[in-house]
Amino acid sequence: MYQFSPNHSLGTLAIHVGEDENTHHSHVSPIYQTSTFNFTDVATGAGIVARTEPGYYYTRLANPNLDQLAQKIAILEGIDLIREQPQAKPADLVAGQAFSSGMAAITAVLLSQLKTGDTIVAQQAVYSATFTFLKDIAPSLGIQVRWVHDISPAGWESAFEQHPDAKLAYAETPANPTMAVVDLKAVAEIAHRRGAWLAVDSTFASPYCQRPLALGADIVVHSTTKFLSGHGTLTGGAVVSSHPAYIHDDLYKFVKILGGIPSPFDTWLASLGLKTFELRMQRHCENALQVARFLSTHPAVAQVHYPGLEDDPGHEIASRQMQAFGGVLSFELKGGMQAGIRLMERVKMATLAVSLGMVDTLIEHPASMTHGPVPKEDRLSQGITDGLVRLSVGVENLSDILADLEQGLM
Ligand code: PLP
Repeated sequence: MYQFSPNHSLGTLAIHVGEDENTHHSHVSPIYQTSTFNFTDVATGAGIVARTEPGYYYTRLANPNLDQLAQKIAILEGIDLIREQPQAKPADLVAGQAFSSGMAAITAVLLSQLKTGDTIVAQQAVYSATFTFLKDIAPSLGIQVRWVHDISPAGWESAFEQHPDAKLAYAETPANPTMAVVDLKAVAEIAHRRGAWLAVDSTFASPYCQRPLALGADIVVHSTTKFLSGHGTLTGGAVVSSHPAYIHDDLYKFVKILGGIPSPFDTWLASLGLKTFELRMQRHCENALQVARFLSTHPAVAQVHYPGLEDDPGHEIASRQMQAFGGVLSFELKGGMQAGIRLMERVKMATLAVSLGMVDTLIEHPASMTHGPVPKEDRLSQGITDGLVRLSVGVENLSDILADLEQGLM
């Protein structure tokens, strides 16, 4: 039987943590595709419902497959904290919760952290649906949003100076699709000085590249639709926090009531995808760096956004806070939008599709696709120009990816 060790690599942890000890000793954890669980007797049932006894009773509230996935992602995100305090129980340092999508995770975090009259200090260039929630829905609930346009520590500092009682700072790094990098250590320090928490969308990085909790963040959110599950077979989300009581009490209230939990099968698929997490991420990151270098020297390309490039504005911070630079990049062609459309329609192996972080290479046009719902004026101020192309670099053989782009750019 596997014995957890904080010294194990991320890849080993992703394979073994949370795997099920089940009646029939099936090697791969079973799928608990059930809405309800039988009670042995009334007293035990009442104890399980009251959470005074261990056990499951209704999948919206908890299910072994959901817990397994949450436990794996929590350990991956919290491994540095666990290594720093080897005497403590990992569950006292970090906890997680699985959701039905990244947006279910993000909105549950925002709703559990903020109430009418509160202020959030939020990066303006974030994923389109997060932006729409903050721009349209949060104000309708009486939540004030102070946007951060200048994402340098000075920009966050000045936002907090204007709103010293803000409850939460919200960052996404690297940001979708501009690849802008936020200095998480500095922003956590600024937020904490004012008594606020920092929540970070780390979807683009995954815990292989960046672990915000070790940099001082309080909450990490993920779309597990992407690198964590890795194969594009599901939508899912996760929240991990270095305040386990927040996950088990405050956030759990919203899990129960909002009900944005994933199906057991989807979490089983995500846990299965995690077994190759380290291997996939190594290859994604190696391929993306080489593709970024190739594009940055190509005569048809005007600019490449990838924090792994030495001349990228985010490179210096990314080199400090990331172990690798991730599998996504964006770029603009000298021929602008028309050249971008031509490339997206000429590639033969890369697929024209939204989403990212799966084993195959995907290409898309943020202005009309992922960020189409964002009003043009907001989109442009986020740095998402009409000509920007986003590439999620897969784990195919590098030479095949480069050859496909080369012929597409001819
Ligand atoms: N956060 C980021 C950075 C994303 O790119 C996305 C989706 O693309 C989301 C959150 C939302 O995730 P989901 O589509 O799983 O709800």
